Amino acid sequence: MTIANKLAREELVNMVPYQSARRLHSSNGDMQSKTWLNANEASGSGTYQVNSNNINRYPDFQPENLINAYRDYCGVSTDNIRAENILATRGADEGIELLIRTFCRAYQDKVLICPPTYGMYAISAENHGVDTIKVPLTDKLSLDLAGLKQQVDQAKVVFLCSPGNPTGNLLSQQDIQATLELFADSAMVVVDEAYIEFSPEQSVASWLKDYPHLVVLRTLSKAFALAGLRCGFTLANEDVITMLSKVIAPYPISAPVAEIASEALAQNGLRQMNNRVQETGTLRDQLAHWLAQQKWCEQVFASDANFVLFRCESEATKSFIFNTLAQQGILIRDQSKQLSLANCLRISIGSANELSLLKQKIINAITPDKRELV
Ligand SMILES: *Cc1c(COP(=O)(O)O)cnc(C)c1O
Repeated sequence: MTIANKLAREELVNMVPYQSARRLHSSNGDMQSKTWLNANEASGSGTYQVNSNNINRYPDFQPENLINAYRDYCGVSTDNIRAENILATRGADEGIELLIRTFCRAYQDKVLICPPTYGMYAISAENHGVDTIKVPLTDKLSLDLAGLKQQVDQAKVVFLCSPGNPTGNLLSQQDIQATLELFADSAMVVVDEAYIEFSPEQSVASWLKDYPHLVVLRTLSKAFALAGLRCGFTLANEDVITMLSKVIAPYPISAPVAEIASEALAQNGLRQMNNRVQETGTLRDQLAHWLAQQKWCEQVFASDANFVLFRCESEATKSFIFNTLAQQGILIRDQSKQLSLANCLRISIGSANELSLLKQKIINAITPDKRELV
């Protein structure tokens, strides 16, 4: 029995997903060569300003151009990811939700998270009536393997985040591997790689062939600068993708989204993305360096992503910085309510101008006599 069949909600195993018109007959990117009278669509488009041809038609369940473009992008680092291993979703957030809905029975099964971590795992679980087991990261922000071992058989889905949000650090590949070994046969192990473009060599996507219960989450929202598009990808073995495909909406990716996303994954788009990653890394390191020099800053967390987390010397300083910036229209994120992140704030790496404005505002507010430090 495959791992997906073993761990999925029982009713899904034999369930036949809704046979939408486009699932029964996909266009494979070619709408012209057939006469489509099977989905109650209009025969022509209205006169809207959209980028897409055929907006009067339902999109394919998983648009071929998009899936192939993402496969080619993955292929840069791994040669064993095929179209069958990819599910395009409305952002990685939908991937999280699908995993919980596919593998967890409400009021019975649990997910496991390692806080401080991305908030949506617990929110999606709660939303679905699923409890969350917490195995906090160690004080070095690495996985607590002994703590994880104690929870084997207690959770159906384990969420790891690497690089982590809001901490910014990569998990060690060795620890991820150890976690996969611990939960083999008892849970899906999800590695959320929303920020992996900032250290692509650390991806575990190439491990799919060795671990049937591994799932990798990706998104176009961060390094690809397309958060408004709502497009993410779930990478997994084919039986897992098949199971998730029974739960996802029948037409999850709109035609304009598929078109823009495919463009972002073509050569020119990838070049832009790589440049953005380089520039962001430079600005991030400059900001981290600057923060580390500030007297009121107690700790700057090492970041492999497009943000910097730092700890202020006190609750009062944290609130002062956060509120002063907010009053002047600069919004950063308060992470101080997260486990072990007392007095911590997180700054996303914006443009050079935005970041120098931020530094200026902080200096003006905190040390009016030291403006030359900017
Ligand atoms: C931003 C983020 C997501 C969600 O990405 P979308 O594709 O925009 O839904 C998922 N996981 C982590 C860790 C994130 O930071």
